[in-house]
Amino acid sequence: MAQNYYEILGVDKNASADEIKSAYRKLAKKYHPDLNKDNPEAATKFKEINEAYEVLGDPQKKSNYDQYGDAKGPNMNDFFGGRQSTGSQGGGFGFNFGDIFGDIFGGGFGSASRSNYAVQGKDINVKVNLTFEEAAKGVKRDITYMRTQECSECKGTGAKNGTEYSTCTECNGTGTVQFTQDTIFGRVVNSGVCKNCNGTGKIIRERCSTCGGAGVKRGQNTVTINIPAGIDDGQIVTVHGYGEAGIRGGPAGDLQIFVSVNKHPLLKRDGFDVLLDIPVPFTVAMFGGKILIPSLEGKLELNIPENTQSGTILKLKGKGIKQLNKNSYGDMLITVKVELPKVSSRAKKEIQTMLDEQFPLDKFDKYNNYNKAVKNL
Ligand SMILES: [Zn+2]
Ligand SMILES: [Zn+2]
Repeated sequence: MAQNYYEILGVDKNASADEIKSAYRKLAKKYHPDLNKDNPEAATKFKEINEAYEVLGDPQKKSNYDQYGDAKGPNMNDFFGGRQSTGSQGGGFGFNFGDIFGDIFGGGFGSASRSNYAVQGKDINVKVNLTFEEAAKGVKRDITYMRTQECSECKGTGAKNGTEYSTCTECNGTGTVQFTQDTIFGRVVNSGVCKNCNGTGKIIRERCSTCGGAGVKRGQNTVTINIPAGIDDGQIVTVHGYGEAGIRGGPAGDLQIFVSVNKHPLLKRDGFDVLLDIPVPFTVAMFGGKILIPSLEGKLELNIPENTQSGTILKLKGKGIKQLNKNSYGDMLITVKVELPKVSSRAKKEIQTMLDEQFPLDKFDKYNNYNKAVKNL
């Protein structure tokens, strides 16, 4: 709940626009810092008066204030509530969004004029490269990028100490003016950006030396991001409120992190399953044995059972990738590709005779069934 602006200006709740304006002028003159150099309390009082008038002098804000006790009205609050929760949901980024928005919007000096014609800052796109394992298991990354941020020195006002400005009298701090235009359709009332203050609603008496009056500063920013396990190539992690600063108090844009996942030399991904093809010597396939394989948990020895056919898929349940934002895992699916060796011509005769004896063609069930089916076509 903002302060009681009516009390600050010493007017009645039913005061007319003219009464409010004249009360403001009287008080602003009385407490103007230039005229009260020895009275530090005057500056505070002057701020309060300006703040009160920025709201009560604007019909829309006054109506919001009368109704909701806040110049911004209810929607802005809902909006920030929403952003806050998506922000922290987006992967536990560990920032206090309340503080950030509180700093920008929190009822303080100039907050009323800031919500006027506020424009959300632009999104910033950055790219991160992850290894296959990092994407599968999640990773913490420091991301450093250039960003425009509100100047802390002047709290985004562009005025020295955040106080050396006054409300534009042309537009009463709204940043827009109405003008009439004669057109072929007759006289039309239009509104446009106030040229006196360039739509800021303020006239800066002395510029902030840190930002040169811009109210924002460009600088390097580093955020630590928890990239969630299960993220895939081409996906985007959004960090709300970490893009460019908003214009005239608008919310900051988002930081959009484009994820690029490097290829693994052996493993492939299908959804949340991890795929691997393994060449298996025909002797191992025939008699059984062990094959060393890579996995998300490091290398392990896979048991190849006796008589494993080529094309068999061996499944390691739950050894795949963690499902994004879920507590379940995909599987690891290993396809056996039986490898037949080249036999040297010297050994050929001997081996062939031995194998033919041991495995005559009538011992191959599938082969024989297939042959029968072909003949019956
Ligand atoms: Zn103006
Ligand atoms: Zn500044």
